[in-house]
Amino acid sequence: MSSAADQASEPKAPVLKINVLKCRGEACNGLLAYEETNEGFLLGQALLLADEVDGKRFLPCPECGGRNLVEEKDVAGKMRTCVIGFEAA
Ligand SMILES: [Zn+2]
Repeated sequence: MSSAADQASEPKAPVLKINVLKCRGEACNGLLAYEETNEGFLLGQALLLADEVDGKRFLPCPECGGRNLVEEKDVAGKMRTCVIGFEAA
């Protein structure tokens, strides 16, 4: 529990939250064995572990078999891995 007074007195520092990566498929609630920050960056070696077909890298969903497309982006001088799209199986 945090009161409104506590929130007002503390400077707004970005809080890093880490969530299990969810499949981007619209009707799919599949969970992937990767972690994603609340800023949308994947943790760990997601890009290296991704499958690659025709130059596209993706993380296959164990539920629907769809492809969660990933790409490395330069974010403030750091290469971060993001999910950039989804292709249904
Ligand atoms: Zn899925």
